[in-house]
Order: sequence, then C-alpha cells, then structure tokens
Amino acid sequence: MDQPEISRLTRALRHGIGQDDQHRAVVPAWYGSSNYTFPTIAEEPDYAYSRSGNPTRDLFGEALATLEGGAGTVVTSSGMSAATLAVLALVPAGGRVVAAHDLYGGTWRLLNRFAADGRLQVDWVDLTDLDAARAALATEADLVWVESPSNPLLRITDIAAVCELGHTAGAKVLADNTFCSPVLQQPLSMGADLVLHSTTKFINGHSDVVGGALVSATEELHADLDWWANTTGVSGSSFDAWLQLRGLRTLDARMRVHQENAAAVVELLVDHPAVTRVHYPGLPDHPGHELATRQQSGFGSLISFEVAGGRAATEALVDGLRTFCLAESLGGVESLVVHPAAMTHAAMSDEALGLAGISQGLLRLSVGIEQSADLVADLAAGLDRAAAVTG
Ligand SMILES: *Cc1c(COP(=O)(O)O)cnc(C)c1O
Repeated sequence: MDQPEISRLTRALRHGIGQDDQHRAVVPAWYGSSNYTFPTIAEEPDYAYSRSGNPTRDLFGEALATLEGGAGTVVTSSGMSAATLAVLALVPAGGRVVAAHDLYGGTWRLLNRFAADGRLQVDWVDLTDLDAARAALATEADLVWVESPSNPLLRITDIAAVCELGHTAGAKVLADNTFCSPVLQQPLSMGADLVLHSTTKFINGHSDVVGGALVSATEELHADLDWWANTTGVSGSSFDAWLQLRGLRTLDARMRVHQENAAAVVELLVDHPAVTRVHYPGLPDHPGHELATRQQSGFGSLISFEVAGGRAATEALVDGLRTFCLAESLGGVESLVVHPAAMTHAAMSDEALGLAGISQGLLRLSVGIEQSADLVADLAAGLDRAAAVTG
C-alpha cells in the first residue's frame, strides 16, 4: 500500500532525526571537526574540510531547502555574507542591479558602496509600484533584489510580477524572505531564483546566533553559490548550524504563536487614541493587504505604529515596558521594540527618513511568543504613558 505523503513542514522538522547509525541518538550529533580523514590517497571522502562541507551544516541547509522548496542551500556566517556572496556570484563587473528602494539598511549600504567604487550599477526603485518596476526593467539587468514585507513599514511587493519583469530583463531575481520565513511565504514558488535569509531572525528564533542562507531554485545555481562560499570562505560555522537546526524544528509552531500574539497587539493598537497609524499587512486598510493575503499564508509578527506626540511620546511609551526589550533585530521568541529613526535607520538623513515615511513617532514591534495578555497589558500601560505626554 502507498504511504501517505509527508508535508514539507513535517519533513523539515524531522530532517536528521532518528538517523544515527552509531548510537541510535534521536537528535543528530554536532560534527565540530574542521577536517576529515581520507580512506586512501586515491579516494576522496564526502567531507574533507569544514569550510567546503560539513555534515551538520548540510543537515540544516537541507531542512531549509525543504521548507523553501529549493534545490539546495548555501549556509553562511550572516545574512550580510549571504548578500555579499549573491552579488559576487550573480553580478559581473559593471553589471546592473535593480533593487527595492527600501531594502534592509545593511544591503543598501553594501550595494551603494559597490556602486560608489564602480564595481556595479544600482538603480533604487519602488518595486511595490509595478509601473516603476516595469520602467526600470525595460533595460537589461543582472540581478533584481526584492524584500517583502519591507522594513519598517511592512510594504508588500508583488513577487510573482516582479520575477516575470526581472526575467524578461535577463536578470536573476533574489527575494529576501527574512521577515516571513518559509512558513508564511515561499518566493521560489512565485518564480524567484534565489531566496536570502538572515537566519539570525525567525529561522534560528532565539536571538543567540548570527547566520545567513541562500536557497537556490536550481541545482546549477546552487552549485555555483556553493563554489563561491568555499572560495570566499563565508560558510557558516558547524555549531551555529547545529543551533539553527534546533531552532528550525520549532519554526512553524513559533510562527503560529507569533501571529496569534501580533493579532492581539494589533487589536489594542488600532483602538487606542494615542495611536495615529498602524502598519500591519493583516489590516484591511493596509495598502498591501490584498497582495499579502494572496502571496503569504499569514501576516507575520512585525508591526509598526505611530503615536501622537512624536519622539517624546515614544520615549514615555518605551520607558517602563517590562515585556519588550528596546533592541534592534527581530524574530526571536522574546518581544522587542525599536525606534527606527533613532536606531535601525539612524544613518539616514532627516530628508531620507521623511521620504521613506519614517517619522519620530514611529515604533516597530517584533512580537514574541510570551503570553499575549501580558504583552497587551504592558503595551496598554505604555500607550497611556504616551497619551499623558501629549495631554
Ligand atoms: C537582519 C537582516 C539582514 C542582515 O542579516 P545579518 O544576519 O544581520 O547579517 C538582511 N535582511 C533583512 C531583511 C534583515 O532583517
């Protein structure tokens, strides 16, 4: 009799489980060895040196490729080393990159410096506007860089439409899927060639590893990126991979609670008089709501909102919170709050902040998996403090 098919989520969660022939361990051991013995001079082993290949890193990469529906994963030391690798592998000298104008700040810095140094050309485009994307991609390009939802306003890009335009322009399309994780969005199924992750965030999920990954749609692209990872030495550490494999096993379960808690927080925010605007793709009045409903299987746990009273009101709100840490980064089990204008986006000029819609009254939350009632009560008290500032 045919066995029922096992879902990608279960296969990823169980990858490497119960496979230990030596001791029958349930969980795979960590292989920390930097090098491996050759059986004879004439025979090359599967693993020779951990920069080029490591069994623990491979297990993590395979589990992530299963989740994204990809042919293979290159696991790197950080999200930014994955980004650097993608540029090196896909953009020839003098090549052209079309990038979303509100990319993650570190990616913006990388591409801008490469462009300033004359290594490549970059055109910053509002890719949520398909007319702008079409105009930019009427000219040939090597790489299109999409990030949806964006940071911190959670703007949504039509990934399938941009992939089609990018391919017509002769480009490979990379989607940074850090905010959704493959549980909520799978860009390869929408036509992307490559998915980038800062696995530091939801994939690891416990704020104790910095890591990155590139998942390729094809074996050919994967082999090329793998060659570059070994050659440049950006491959991730085996112990970090072991921790991230552990984190990945609870990704789907964590995302369910993250989203449940985010919904409770959004409910508080939309009704509170101190809040002038809530940016969350799950809200029907969010400009990307319909698109997010179509291309994501959930709205995630990042929320940004504006309070009346600007910077002073945000300070009153944050000062006294007991269940949110004031910290950059996102996607961990613990709740965080950040003031984008003063923290994550501090390098931007006032004018650039204005153009990007990042006001002094804006806060971004990464809602964790604590008890939602505790988070809501804590934020409600903070919002009352913010309201008292404006009077
Ligand atoms: C954090 C982040 C990165 C960079 O990843 P690191 O692991 O910090 O190097 C890239 N893209 C997005 C969307 C991020 O949030």
